Amino acid sequence: MLLSENEAKFKYCPLLKTHDDKMKFCQASMCMMWRAEKPEVEGCKGWCGLAGGPVAQQKD
Ligand code: SF4
Repeated sequence: MLLSENEAKFKYCPLLKTHDDKMKFCQASMCMMWRAEKPEVEGCKGWCGLAGGPVAQQKD
């Protein structure tokens, strides 16, 4: 799912939990798993690398 960082920050992360076991929001580019669509462009869209690339980004 290709998202802006602001959009990603309102999606739950499957790994992050609070101390009382509630899900936390995605950390976007603050997380090592974040993959930028255009790394040379600051603030570009991206996706969580845990589930592979978004379909639109996959090459044949
Ligand atoms: S990019 Fe990082 S913080 Fe965001 S959903 Fe993926 S693992 Fe969680």
